[in-house]
Amino acid sequence: MPVFNHIPMGEEGLKEIYQWLDDWVAKNKGIVHQKVIGKSPDHWEIPAIFITDEDVPNEDKQIAVITLGRHGQEFGARVVGPEIIRYLCSDDAKEIREAQLVIIVPVVNPEGFVSNEFRSSMTSLTKTERLVLGGLFKAFPPDMMVDFHSLGKSAGSKYDRGDMEVIIPANTTRWAMDEQIHQYIAREMQKAAESEGWPYEIHTLEDLATYYFGDTKIGNMPWSYLKEKVFLLHMQDFYDHYHIPEEDHYTNYTCGPAYLKWHTLVFGLETNHYALSRASDIALSGVAPCSALLKMGCTRLPWEKDIGYPVNLLHGDFRISVRPLGRNVSDRRASRIRIWNERENFNLPQREMVDPETTGARVRYFGRDLPMEFALCLRMRQNSIKSVTTRGKEVQFETYKDHCSTYVYIPTVIEKAGLIEFSIKHSYP
Ligand SMILES: [Zn+2]
Repeated sequence: MPVFNHIPMGEEGLKEIYQWLDDWVAKNKGIVHQKVIGKSPDHWEIPAIFITDEDVPNEDKQIAVITLGRHGQEFGARVVGPEIIRYLCSDDAKEIREAQLVIIVPVVNPEGFVSNEFRSSMTSLTKTERLVLGGLFKAFPPDMMVDFHSLGKSAGSKYDRGDMEVIIPANTTRWAMDEQIHQYIAREMQKAAESEGWPYEIHTLEDLATYYFGDTKIGNMPWSYLKEKVFLLHMQDFYDHYHIPEEDHYTNYTCGPAYLKWHTLVFGLETNHYALSRASDIALSGVAPCSALLKMGCTRLPWEKDIGYPVNLLHGDFRISVRPLGRNVSDRRASRIRIWNERENFNLPQREMVDPETTGARVRYFGRDLPMEFALCLRMRQNSIKSVTTRGKEVQFETYKDHCSTYVYIPTVIEKAGLIEFSIKHSYP
């Protein structure tokens, strides 16, 4: 039985959802708690639901945030939040609760909900979102974030009206393999949803932008594909950091600025309240890709050193990259955020195979956030790494493996702006 077999509408509907949340929280003490994180302009409370295994310390947990219903007329998103909450309290989600703190904001925009109208923005975060989400994220900067919307007969994309569900990798740059990484995860989400019978599509943010902002003279259809990823850089407000009042940039999803600010793994999700006429189908089709994503946060992706969301490749590529440092999840998050915000002050890390048994690696940091602590990480075809030296002195390193290669992870510190170089001795492959 689904949580809702109808779509709650208007003021009564909002009260119905809030009542369900209160009852659910009361019944599931120990793994769920609720906090009002703000109010809408017309004074409706905005609750957040925190789900986690309270016996595991938070510093060992990923932070995942799921927001829903920022666009008031996108009715489908209303039933997805409660269904995700129910899923997260089930036995199937035990591992997720142990490894993550999941925060769900089931109704980001109660005013839009009550009026059954948009009452939001496609071009920036609203003032309420800046305040409310900004406050939440001060304490809980997310490692992963999903924002749920819902397409209908005429709302949503002009490109495919009435029958589409979509996963949108919401990364706004291609920095450090982020396009590949978001697509990799989106594909896994899509596979999981399809295996349960929900045919999702994957569209990028810039695909979406052309659908919205394409020539209006031919029924809002763009003439052709948008070819340049970089187009988005002009549309997305780099400074929309949940607190700066700008009103003229593209931010369809609440999570876009989280990517720019904290290097959060970000997705938009569009369910469909027109093609799926049963509320329970909307809810279940929303849970499918979301639960797959949450489960991936409990695994180690092949290029990652630790279990968790793949957000630690901060500069460079899979072969040589700048990574965060830290003994636990929360230290690594702080390190990641610090390095990410200094990313423009690193040059592209370089590597060179000097001879069959030696690889050189170097990176320059020319920012002012000193001393800058980070790790340089190389993917090696050689499986025996003998030593790493810098300026003739041996340094500590760690190794980890994927299915066919070895990663050398070299923690280091740059005391004075400039270049650091390493020499890695290894076996012949
Ligand atoms: Zn929307």
